[in-house]
Amino acid sequence: MSKAILIEMLKEKKLKITPQRIAILEELEKNGHSTVDDIFNGIKLRVPSVSLATVYKNILALQSAEILKSVKTPTHKQKYEINIKPHIHLFCKVCENLQDFEIDTNEFKKYCKEKSGYYCIDEASILLTGICKKCSKQQSKAI
Ligand SMILES: [Zn+2]
Ligand SMILES: [Zn+2]
Repeated sequence: MSKAILIEMLKEKKLKITPQRIAILEELEKNGHSTVDDIFNGIKLRVPSVSLATVYKNILALQSAEILKSVKTPTHKQKYEINIKPHIHLFCKVCENLQDFEIDTNEFKKYCKEKSGYYCIDEASILLTGICKKCSKQQSKAI
């Protein structure tokens, strides 16, 4: 994504375009899932005057505009990512790696809506835990 697209995302949600917000989006685009601390440390290298409070405040603003999504993992602090395509998360219990997995959750949501009688279901935040391919190879070697 170019800077112009990131600016477009802010414009579309009628958010003020500030260097801090662009820097947050650039960090997340570069590194994927990141904690507030990760983002702050990345931005501090470029903008030494920035404060953790400012970064946090901006992350929350971007999250309520649905430009960012938060991801909770079993062991890490809350992470954030740019909300682009619907996807679920795979979390390896051994190496604690968090991976995106693109899947169409519409059928699942439809099923849950029908079974639960919910008026509407809009979001599916699904995290599956297990052992990744890399770690499974190491485990079978160890045996
Ligand atoms: Zn693993
Ligand atoms: Zn993700």
